[in-house]
Amino acid sequence: MLLSVIVPCYNEEGNIDLFYEETVKALGDLMPETELIFVNDGSRDSTIRKLRSLCERAEYRVRVVSFSRNFGKEAALLAGLEASQGTFTSIIDADLQQNPAYIVEMMQILNEHPEYDAVAAYQQERKEGMILSLFKKMFYNVIDSLTDVKIMQAASDFRLLRRPVVDAILSLPEKCRFSKGIFAWVGFETYYMPYTVEERASGTSKWNFWKLMKYAFDGIIAFSNKPLIMSSIAGLFIFGLSILYLIIIVVKTILWGDPVAGFPTLACLILMLSGIQLLGIGILGQYLAKNYTESKERPVYIVKEELDNGADQELP
Ligand code: UDP
Ligand code: MG
Repeated sequence: MLLSVIVPCYNEEGNIDLFYEETVKALGDLMPETELIFVNDGSRDSTIRKLRSLCERAEYRVRVVSFSRNFGKEAALLAGLEASQGTFTSIIDADLQQNPAYIVEMMQILNEHPEYDAVAAYQQERKEGMILSLFKKMFYNVIDSLTDVKIMQAASDFRLLRRPVVDAILSLPEKCRFSKGIFAWVGFETYYMPYTVEERASGTSKWNFWKLMKYAFDGIIAFSNKPLIMSSIAGLFIFGLSILYLIIIVVKTILWGDPVAGFPTLACLILMLSGIQLLGIGILGQYLAKNYTESKERPVYIVKEELDNGADQELP
């Protein structure tokens, strides 16, 4: 198998057939050597029925991995990568926001440039709201300054990877997976290719503000210990300040016999310090929670059904 195309699907009933048609049209000569791996991430609509019927009638190789419930896009990507057999593996969304024709371009880039191991598509212009854009920018700035991995800001999960890159990604045993970080962490030479995002063919985006926030925090915790170090430094700094303040009060009392200025200072200090303590405990708790999740060693996803039309075996 030359190429595996991984397609995570969550409630994409309106896009499956369209995606298949567009991909067959776009990949052309590549299609006989391509397997399409649809990962049904516990969709609640008729996505799985659409996939079953596609599997029956598709002329080209179609495989389906269907989860027992919604495990999230990261889990779907992992399942797809684990199933992929291709020399090259591509990851693409099911909603046709990412035109499958770009995969051909990515293949050309890797064929012409053996020094590159992966191609990642990035959006030149972002077609999203100002506020979301601002938050995303902030997140990448924070994660950039906190972690050792360099995450290209606008790069998406839309990628083409050579086999060694896929194997490297699969060699990471962690359960809490943050793909953007993992892609950067495994290294290799990545070519960044600009692309234009299209409108969603059908259905709605699965992301909202809070989901993105959670994703951002997970990413920071998975790839950086610096928040822990920062909370220790903050503790040390405040301890220093409190000693300084103590000295000032003692000196003032000895020299001028000042009565200690009372309640407001005390109230402010207690509030500030307890706030900082809670923040510190919160940060610590986040890392502990991740540790707890990892140590349970639960599988990242559970497969309920697998389909394979084995179509390539019939093709010459
Ligand atoms: N997706 C998934 N599981 C989820 C959420 C999303 O497999 O829990 C898939 C979804 O079907 C789509 C891709 O991930 O193929 C990207 O999702 P979406 O289009 O909602 O994200 P956006 O393009 O808005 O960033
Ligand atoms: Mg989308």
